[in-house]
Amino acid sequence: MSSAERPLVRPEPDGDELRLRRPSRAQADRKIENEIEDHCQTHLHKKMEAFCEDCSSPVCMDCILTQDHKGHEIVNIQTGSSRQRAWFEEKMKAAIEKKAEVEHQIIRTRSHLQEIEKEASDRRQTLSTIFNEVR
Ligand SMILES: [Zn+2]
Ligand SMILES: [Zn+2]
Repeated sequence: MSSAERPLVRPEPDGDELRLRRPSRAQADRKIENEIEDHCQTHLHKKMEAFCEDCSSPVCMDCILTQDHKGHEIVNIQTGSSRQRAWFEEKMKAAIEKKAEVEHQIIRTRSHLQEIEKEASDRRQTLSTIFNEVR
């Protein structure tokens, strides 16, 4: 039905903005990051930020959020300074909490949807019963 797709008229200033806002310091930051730890083999652009005890392998943020490591024991990688470790811990905790929150929301929405569908079908049933009785 909706074969007439409207093209996006909005311009995209992100590209230029990103280039302008990116200082040369980013390179230095990246160098430091590379010195601290390796990048994920699966997600090459992601840093290893933790270690999966169950798989005995380092994992990145993306790895942790996949089903592959669901329920696995994820521990912090030895990153050197305790400050860095605290940061990783914080970041990982936030990501895991966020994921749980999103999952919870999905489950809630789904059950809510089921309620609505049930109500709708109940009403339909009632209506058809009434119609049949009237006839
Ligand atoms: Zn990964
Ligand atoms: Zn794992």
